Amino acid sequence: MRKPIIAGNWKMHTTRAQARELAAAIVSGCVGLSDRDVLLAPPFTALSQVSREVSGSSIIVAGQNVCWQEQGAFTGEISPAMLFDCGATAVIIGHSERRQLFGEDDKLINRRIHGALAAGLLVVFCIGETLAHREAEKTLDILKSQLHWGLTDLVGDSLASVIIAYEPVWAIGTGKTASSGQAQEVHGFIRAEIGRMYKKEIAENLRILYGGSVKPDNIDDLMAQPDIDGALVGGAALDAESFNRIINFTQQI
Ligand code: PEP
Repeated sequence: MRKPIIAGNWKMHTTRAQARELAAAIVSGCVGLSDRDVLLAPPFTALSQVSREVSGSSIIVAGQNVCWQEQGAFTGEISPAMLFDCGATAVIIGHSERRQLFGEDDKLINRRIHGALAAGLLVVFCIGETLAHREAEKTLDILKSQLHWGLTDLVGDSLASVIIAYEPVWAIGTGKTASSGQAQEVHGFIRAEIGRMYKKEIAENLRILYGGSVKPDNIDDLMAQPDIDGALVGGAALDAESFNRIINFTQQI
């Protein structure tokens, strides 16, 4: 049985004070929710504040990226140990904004994933097609390639610490959401592909999140799909009321 997880990616938003306030409001919205996980990824500068604010709750704190090296001359990078030092135990890797705006390619993403897993971080590995890929009917080819490159040389046991986030690039921050049916089709494909790459049992235990304009009014439909195990939320994660409604999605029996 896969435990659902709702993740909030705060991107380059919030000062430390704003982050603390938002985290406190989300802690209140999570009270009594033991059948799902909640993960918050504030900017690096606010990780310590958010970790302190959520301590005593089961909220997981994550970085928005991580270096594959332990330390050294890597200006602008953050090591796994630095994330742990700020209270984070998870990390988002391969977000489409890193791929598109900062030129991160599949090989670099694979190195980051290896480094993060070796250090013991929980990894949220993002994949997704662009509008051009979708229109050219290349969606599944692109996702397959991103999965194979991103997970190169990872043994099946490591997948226990990996969550995949399917985020169609055309749906991120655009207000366009993949329909729950479209998302389910892709999630089913991802699970089957992981089954082919590893074992069916590993695929069955893998959590696959949907991301792309998730809002209070579409979360219940998305979560009703059999292969959607949660959401990675951007814009709506910055508003406590919206995010708390998303966290409190209706669980289908
Ligand atoms: C994201 O940042 O991963 C994301 C899905 O953003 P939004 O929810 O704003 O589309």
